[in-house]
Amino acid sequence: MQRPGSGKRPAGRRLSVRRDDNVVVLAGKDRGKHGKVLRVDREHGRVVVEGVGKAHKHQKASKKVMQGGIIEQENPISASTVMVICGQCKQPTRVGHLVQSDGKRARKCMHCGEALDR
Ligand SMILES: [Zn+2]
Repeated sequence: MQRPGSGKRPAGRRLSVRRDDNVVVLAGKDRGKHGKVLRVDREHGRVVVEGVGKAHKHQKASKKVMQGGIIEQENPISASTVMVICGQCKQPTRVGHLVQSDGKRARKCMHCGEALDR
């Protein structure tokens, strides 16, 4: 019997960005935009941010998608081009780690030292 967690781990990177974070985009055509993280793809190191990376997709009508046409959707961007915005000091920050009093690890803001997770 294999214990859970003892098996192969997916080749996911540790990302400092998580779903529902507020982030600012540092590079690309959406540079300077703020948005909420909708999806995180750890395997590819990419994130989908609300209102960022929008592209028109030409969707053909099929059985699955009844209506074709041009739809606007958010495309994943590289997680390294976004920075987490601290909820305390409202600044884009690098993310550090701290161990809380209950032993849990949390991310912290490198500016004010506040934990980003609670
Ligand atoms: Zn802060």
